[in-house]
Amino acid sequence: MKNQFIKISAVSILLLSFTVSCSSSSSSLAQEEELTEVIIGTLHDAFAEFDADETTIYLSGANVVIETTGLPNHTTPYWSLNHSLYVAPTVTSASQMTPTRIDTSGRDNSSTLTVSASSDLASSSTSTQLGAIGIAVSGAYLYNDQEGSGALDAAASSLDYTGGHIGPTDYHYHLEPLAFSNDDEKLIGIISDGFFMYGRKCNANGTYPIDLDASGGHTSTTQHATSAEYHYHIINQLYSNTGRYIVFAGPYQGTPNAIN
Ligand SMILES: [Zn+2]
Ligand SMILES: [Zn+2]
Repeated sequence: MKNQFIKISAVSILLLSFTVSCSSSSSSLAQEEELTEVIIGTLHDAFAEFDADETTIYLSGANVVIETTGLPNHTTPYWSLNHSLYVAPTVTSASQMTPTRIDTSGRDNSSTLTVSASSDLASSSTSTQLGAIGIAVSGAYLYNDQEGSGALDAAASSLDYTGGHIGPTDYHYHLEPLAFSNDDEKLIGIISDGFFMYGRKCNANGTYPIDLDASGGHTSTTQHATSAEYHYHIINQLYSNTGRYIVFAGPYQGTPNAIN
C-alpha cells in the first residue's frame, strides 16, 4: 500500500496472427508474419480525483484495481492527539466519539476493490450490507445508512464534522463528507459495483438532479464523462435529525464486488 503512484498497465493485449502469402515472382516462399499489437488502455478520468498518497489505481485486463490505505487524507478528531491531522471535535463531542483512534488502533485498514472497467447495470438491484460499500477519494471508506444491527440513529452523534467515525473497525463516512464535498457536484468516490458517486449536485445541469432512481442514480454526463453514464448522487434527503445527508443507502444498481 505504500506504492504512491498510479500505475497504468496494459488493459488488453491483442494478438493478431496472420499469414501473408507472397505472390511475388521473385519468391515462391510464403511469408509468415506475426504482428503483436499492445493496446494501452486508459483509466476513467474520475480516478484522477482519488488521493494518490492513499490510493493506488490501475488497470488489470478488463478491470480496474483500487487499492487504498483506508486512511482519510483530511482532518478529523478520530486521529490521535499528536497526529498532524488531528482537530478537536466540534459537531461531535469527545464523550460521544467511539473509543479508538485511526492511527493508534494497530489495525491494517488497507484493502482492495476490483471492479469492471466498464460496469453495467444489473438486471436486479442488490441491498447493501454492513461494512464498506465503497471507497472515497480521500482514501477512507463509504458505508451505508446502518450501524451495527440497526439504524444509524443511535450512533449518529459519534459522527465527526465530515460524517465519519470509527465503528468499530475502519474510519468511514455515513453522511455527506464535508471535508471534500459540501452541497456540490464533486466526486465522492466509487461504489463497489463500479459506479461513481457524486455530491448532491450534478455537473450535467449544474444543480440538484431531479431524475434520480431509488438508489440516487441516473444516467447523464459528468465532469469526468462527455458521454452519458450511470452514476450515483448523494440524495437530497435529510437523514433523521442530523440535518445532514446519507451518502448511500442502496440498493446497488450494479453487481457489488468485495472490498477486502
Ligand atoms: Zn459507522
Ligand atoms: Zn448526475
